[in-house]
Amino acid sequence: MAEKRLSHAYMLVGPEGPERDAAARRLAAALLCPAEDAPCGVCRDCRKVLGGVHPDVSRVGREQGEKERRGQILVGQIRAMTADAALAPNEAARKVYIIDEAERMNPQAQNALLKALEDPPGHACFILCAAAADGLLPTVRSRCVRGTDPARRTTRTEGMSELARAYLEAAASGDRAQIALCCMSRAGLSREQTEAFAGEVKDAVCAALAGRLDGFGLTERQLLALAALMDKTEDYLRHNVQPKQIFGMLAAETLR
Ligand SMILES: [Zn+2]
Repeated sequence: MAEKRLSHAYMLVGPEGPERDAAARRLAAALLCPAEDAPCGVCRDCRKVLGGVHPDVSRVGREQGEKERRGQILVGQIRAMTADAALAPNEAARKVYIIDEAERMNPQAQNALLKALEDPPGHACFILCAAAADGLLPTVRSRCVRGTDPARRTTRTEGMSELARAYLEAAASGDRAQIALCCMSRAGLSREQTEAFAGEVKDAVCAALAGRLDGFGLTERQLLALAALMDKTEDYLRHNVQPKQIFGMLAAETLR
């Protein structure tokens, strides 16, 4: 199996709740699933991650016990997490740490996390879930892959919306988890926005095929596959499929 190109840290920004929770699990499954088309949803790793019982997926959240410190994730929790991260995985090839309400880390905790992000053990991946990215230190944010991180802008994309550009960059990265994250973060778009998204991606892909835009490092075959996928998206919209389902389809089928 070809080594999947994956990052060590991802940020999932959105309101707290079952949807963000499910998105974090799917992302963790994408990181641990050994299948080429991860997350396959059916292998032992996927089933355990999605069921919340995988021994290589840990969750870190705020302490409820101590009265005066209630509501914060403390440096001791992050240190315990990074100490655990240094140990080899139990079953999978990687270990994943999901930090719930990452914006609740106090500054000391964030600085401890930053050290782990700067020099992560080879098998450790971190998923930071936050209601808003600006609750995190810029140094922490810049270490995380996020669908819409302007620092990752690498190609000529004047006039293209952030939504379309980030999707194409995720596709070009070849990182299944990044693709999944990017699609998940668009599941809340309206029908009109989804239509505009598909149109923009298709325009960019066609421009790249015609040599009018650099192709994000995508091959001609990949560009053609993306154009076909946007046709399918438009077809789904015509049949009143909800954007949420459409982005689920895109997460599963982008450059498979
Ligand atoms: Zn799997």
